[in-house]
Amino acid sequence: MKQHDAMYIGGSWRPAEGSGTIEVENPADGQVIATVPAGSAQDVDAAVRAARAALPGWAATPPEERADRLAALRDQLMARTDEIAATVTAELGAPPKLSRVVHAGLPVAVCGSYAELARTTAFEERIGNSTVLLEPVGVVGAITPWNYPLHQVVAKVAPALAAGCTVVLKPAEDTPLVARLFAECVDAVGIPAGVFNLVTGLGPVAGRALAEHDGVDLLSFTGSTAVGRRLGALAGGAVKRVALELGGKSANVILPSADLAKAVKVGVANVMANSGQTCSAWTRMLVHTDQYDEAVERAAAAASAYVPGERIGPLVNARQRDRVRGYIEQGIAEGARLVVGGPEAPTPVGYYVHPTVFADVTPEMTLAQEEIFGPVLSVLRYEDEDDAVRIANGTVYGLAGAVWAGDDAEAVAFARRLDTGQVDINGGRFNPLAPFGGYKHSGVGRELGAHGLAEYLQTKSLQF
Ligand code: NAD
Repeated sequence: MKQHDAMYIGGSWRPAEGSGTIEVENPADGQVIATVPAGSAQDVDAAVRAARAALPGWAATPPEERADRLAALRDQLMARTDEIAATVTAELGAPPKLSRVVHAGLPVAVCGSYAELARTTAFEERIGNSTVLLEPVGVVGAITPWNYPLHQVVAKVAPALAAGCTVVLKPAEDTPLVARLFAECVDAVGIPAGVFNLVTGLGPVAGRALAEHDGVDLLSFTGSTAVGRRLGALAGGAVKRVALELGGKSANVILPSADLAKAVKVGVANVMANSGQTCSAWTRMLVHTDQYDEAVERAAAAASAYVPGERIGPLVNARQRDRVRGYIEQGIAEGARLVVGGPEAPTPVGYYVHPTVFADVTPEMTLAQEEIFGPVLSVLRYEDEDDAVRIANGTVYGLAGAVWAGDDAEAVAFARRLDTGQVDINGGRFNPLAPFGGYKHSGVGRELGAHGLAEYLQTKSLQF
């Protein structure tokens, strides 16, 4: 077991102020694989001071030079793909292939996209008799979750650095090891001291201290709606900028003209990926009443292929596993029909949950309203298109979704009626340059691409 005792602050690894530690577990077997320091408010303060001291220099660095550093960081992340993938598998439990392709691969693409955007964005524009300067917002406090642990770090740090901001990162306590690897990569490519700082620690201690710190100009948070709501209120009170990427309960709407077999297969894969721990997962499948029974049968067959420990990993920790099992029990108690899976433990060790499909789920049931964050799919029935729109929009969330139809135009017409930040049309691929973020309680602000960069910029208008 590896015992780490330092955090990356002001360009070097330095010991934490306090003596508290966090144990990092491998969720596949429950073994402790490492410890990291549990940062205190003093550690956060040291990191914010370092970020503030580095801000004038980094903000004044020409965007092309910032682009060069980000390109070097992308190359460094790519060079360490194997290590990153192995680390995510060890601390999150993701199957090796998923770790390589998504957990290690996506951050390389996102980091590269911000090297490109730093180079190509015009950080000033002309409007009538004004020149508008796009300037960095300042010091960014980034708080990230464990489900896509490196992607969520890079989706905040890369645009912040491209914009000329400096950053203090507080990663999730379950997955601090890949965040440490990221800090090593930052260090290796000569990004100046203090531009990026890492404080590992508990949410209510280090996370809270970062959110409350006066030296933070923008708070960017990804995680639960419950915590996001509190941080949003805090930031509002302090009049600081805030970006929130929160939960989801996305609908996968299969219109009668769609290729049902494909829509169900891709829909099930979308829910089971990362053991259902994806904020944008299409956890509600909406099927026309005439095709309902066939869709349920197909979904059950598709879900059964996800054998725990082979095609699907464990949940991140015992608490999440218990939470998900609790939702499955509640679904049964509320009268939904369990078609495949269930609350029992599929393996003697590890935090695994059976891939689970429920039929006869009605829109007001807990299963159809709350984010479960596990491999649990609910299949709902609709009577006509208006009914489908009403059900799809009938939750507090609005992060993502999908529409399947015989042709794209029909699907797009339906997608226009959805209150959600993203919609995949007939299985459209994830686009790392498209704005990602929520309507309604799914959040405030957008990540990725040019829209993600804009979050870290503020404008100054000069009139001539
Ligand atoms: P969480 O919101 O508790 O944690 C996310 C991050 O916030 C972590 O870094 C955590 O340390 C920090 N945090 C926690 N309490 C804090 C506080 N009081 N002040 C400042 N920072 C704090 O999320 P979780 O417990 O890891 O997951 C619970 C649920 O959150 C999941 O079941 C899921 O519904 C949701 N979630 C959503 C996403 C997403 O991408 N939208 C990601 C992960 C989790």
